[in-house]
Amino acid sequence: MRRLLATVALSLIAAASPALAQDLAATVDQRVRSLEAKVIDWRRHAHQNPELSNREVKTAEWVADHLRKLGMEVKTDVAKTGVIGLLKGGKPGPVVALRADMDALPVVEETDLPFKSTVKTEYLGQQVGVMHACGHDAHIAILMGVAEALASVRDELPGTVKFIFQPAEEGPPPGETGGAPLMVEEGALENPKPDAIFGLHVISSQPAGMITYREGPLMASADWLYITVKGKQTHGAWPWMGIDPVVTSAQIITGLQNIVARQIDVSKEPAVVSVATINGGARKNIIPDKVEMTGTIRSFDEGMRQDIHARIKHIAEAIAEANHATAEVRIDKAVPVTVNDPALTEKMIPTLKRIGGEGGAAVSKRVMVAEDFSYFQEKVPGMFYFVGITPKDQDMTQAAPNHSPRFFIDESGLLQGTRSLAAVAVDFLTGR
Ligand SMILES: [Zn+2]
Ligand SMILES: [Zn+2]
Repeated sequence: MRRLLATVALSLIAAASPALAQDLAATVDQRVRSLEAKVIDWRRHAHQNPELSNREVKTAEWVADHLRKLGMEVKTDVAKTGVIGLLKGGKPGPVVALRADMDALPVVEETDLPFKSTVKTEYLGQQVGVMHACGHDAHIAILMGVAEALASVRDELPGTVKFIFQPAEEGPPPGETGGAPLMVEEGALENPKPDAIFGLHVISSQPAGMITYREGPLMASADWLYITVKGKQTHGAWPWMGIDPVVTSAQIITGLQNIVARQIDVSKEPAVVSVATINGGARKNIIPDKVEMTGTIRSFDEGMRQDIHARIKHIAEAIAEANHATAEVRIDKAVPVTVNDPALTEKMIPTLKRIGGEGGAAVSKRVMVAEDFSYFQEKVPGMFYFVGITPKDQDMTQAAPNHSPRFFIDESGLLQGTRSLAAVAVDFLTGR
């Protein structure tokens, strides 16, 4: 018992020693560098074999097999196809979780890559192509690389690393549950509970290997908006005989823009309210009974998010009432704001700067798209950041964005992704 205590005490000292922590970080970084070609191969394999959200069956088998070969405890079928690997270090210490998402999109690939996807499947009753158009193939490969590098120093590792391979980040198909919220519900953050979680996204707007980070809100919340305006059908020549839901809808669309332009404090955080579809009517001389609209709401602050929802409801209903029509508003909350824990982010910025090197790491601006990593951050302190993948000599504003059929990954950027994710994990565990 005494000997055990002595060992534990020594290990704690080892974990806290800056010199040893530095050695471990350098060793891991060397391992990661030596895995670069493998990571690129893995990314190509994932790219050529994409699977849609909640259908990542083969991807999950492949990932689980990799983690088992590294000697990890592996849990499969978490949130349908999710995989969790547990790497217990040889020394005591905290628990850190690293997350990669695994799903692809219903997109027909339009690149000329020799390993381009030709996969086709059925999605919502339609034949579609399947493509890793959001770069989750890179995330899978990067996390597999980090797993291999960290497993190789397992005995020296002070603490535990949880590797979370998540399905359905893009959202489960209609009628299904999935993604990060289901992973949380099914206990991904229990036994053991991580002290911190890290994740990254490859992004087309930055040069290959460029790392960007931000304290606090990084990515927006996303909510879905549904408005049904009901009037009374009449002849197009006799509008006074009915109630016109088309003109009412036009006023509602314009009225909703006043929320962001006139009613909320945009100097605090930006927001977006977009009406994206409008459907009503069947013939040019009939004013219809109803019009249906859908849209999306983006914000960076939970209080502002609630306020915007209430204002949308009020404006739509009041404008409808003024026109003797009715408006039914439904807002489905989809994804919370991705908020990087300020203390954790502040602690990890030196790590990202060290890996980025001169000019290779900078503060990110806020990004209006959403990321369901936010569900993990609601439970444990987390940091999410970006890694560029567009060729350095290209005009970044012209690069095909994530979700484009021409989305292209300059694979030289993957190394910085793998190095940075391994480094934040090691530095967090050693308290460097
Ligand atoms: Zn995406
Ligand atoms: Zn994505």
